[in-house]
Amino acid sequence: PAEARANIGVVGLAVMGSNLARNLASREGNVVAVYNRSRAKTDELVTDHPEAGFVPAFSYDEFAASLVRPRTAVIMVKAGGPTDAVIDALVEVFEPGDIIVDGGNALFSDTIRREKAVRDTGINFVGMGVSGGEEGALLGPSLMPGGSDESWITLGPILRSIAAVAEGEPCVTHIGHDGAGHFVKMVHNGIEYADMQLIAEAYDLIRRGTGKSPAEIADVFAEWNRGELESYLIEITAEVLRQVDAETQKPLVDVILDQAGAKGTGAWTVQTALSLGVPVSGIAEATFARSLSSHPEQRSVSRDLPGPADALDVADADAFIEEVRLALYASKIVAYSQGFDEIRAGAAEYGWDIDLGAVSKIWRGGCIIRAQFLNRIADAYAATPDLPVLLTAPYFVEALGRGQDAWRRIVQTAAGAGIPAPAFSSSLAYYDGLRAERLPAALIQGQRDFFGAHTYKRIDKDGTFHTLWSGDR
Ligand code: NAP
Repeated sequence: PAEARANIGVVGLAVMGSNLARNLASREGNVVAVYNRSRAKTDELVTDHPEAGFVPAFSYDEFAASLVRPRTAVIMVKAGGPTDAVIDALVEVFEPGDIIVDGGNALFSDTIRREKAVRDTGINFVGMGVSGGEEGALLGPSLMPGGSDESWITLGPILRSIAAVAEGEPCVTHIGHDGAGHFVKMVHNGIEYADMQLIAEAYDLIRRGTGKSPAEIADVFAEWNRGELESYLIEITAEVLRQVDAETQKPLVDVILDQAGAKGTGAWTVQTALSLGVPVSGIAEATFARSLSSHPEQRSVSRDLPGPADALDVADADAFIEEVRLALYASKIVAYSQGFDEIRAGAAEYGWDIDLGAVSKIWRGGCIIRAQFLNRIADAYAATPDLPVLLTAPYFVEALGRGQDAWRRIVQTAAGAGIPAPAFSSSLAYYDGLRAERLPAALIQGQRDFFGAHTYKRIDKDGTFHTLWSGDR
């Protein structure tokens, strides 16, 4: 049997697992055991990276024997059935006190189920969100581990050593018990959908409003990246827009088919929000916008639907672009506020003690939504940890106050010109919904009581009321 000398192991050596294993091996003091279902990936990794000093294993027994106790293993395999298969195999060869970490993109409710099932064996199960794609896994991801406090004692130092670093702080924190880490990772991805859709709407408005070329709009985004919108997504947007297709010499963005793909985490965020009763309308519209784009058969039969007579023709391009920027920033504040609202509601529902300020801080490095802006969110929660609505923090109120006139004009302009801006406009509607002194929900309560005797409450006295409507007689 192999000598136990690895302090951490990785199961699943596709792109994510092999990069994470190399990241772990590059840190002082780590010896990394590696295992993959099919042998070829293990051989390739070990051969290509002799400097890493990997301890290869070719069976689960060998893998367990190569790890010092408490054994700690990170699973990076396909989410769903494959993850369950690997957990079952590890449970067979691990012992009480050992730690199994699932770093795949699991649905948080699967993680809750798995943690409960594994707990009976005395083995610790930790669901961990990993953000940043393959580059993050190799050079420093943002890590969102859930699981028990006991497992965090062993895992904390290892994860801190491999995570991205933002402003001197490692991008990892113990999010909360069982599924908390995967829940927060899910919402992270939902926010990412909203952020990307908002940027796409800004680009579309500028292009159709000013007639600027993608390369010229790349300059606009590069400029925005020097201000309050500074973020990875704005930065890469400039690069994508500047790219020229080698074959046709056209802007690459004009050659790419306009049907957005999705791997399902946006939909999870929205489905979960619906069951928690949290209005994440920006994330929902972003997810639906991808769905709409991906139905060519519906789009082709709809092309001749009537639209406005006049195309958008902006007189002052610079002023228009600045208004789009303000609208984008305001809508982005709404999207993040909604996402944090979902995390707050999830924590309350599932009994997790989640530090929202710490969540915003670990997203500052390694992950796709990394941005300056996250410092403002951390400040807001530092000042008021139980803030009920993030966008009511003073900094955001100031930004929304500065941007709201432009935001309204941009949404009006888009509607008038027949340019779809679902995330801009739904964010504004959410904002105005929150602000409203009275909502027409009173009428809905009346309707519900009318047709279903669902009863209603009154503003002037306690109790539950039902009216004998004329339709009842
Ligand atoms: P992947 O394509 O999702 O999965 C491939 C790996 O899963 C291979 O190692 C494969 O082993 C293994 N596998 C599949 N079925 C298995 C089974 N029944 N038993 C044992 N192993 C099985 O790999 P990936 O792109 O590296 O992603 C790994 C995980 O990280 C996924 O959950 C993914 O969602 C998550 N993630 C990915 C990213 C990203 O940017 N790609 C970012 C964050 C998180 P074989 O070689 O034997 O087929």
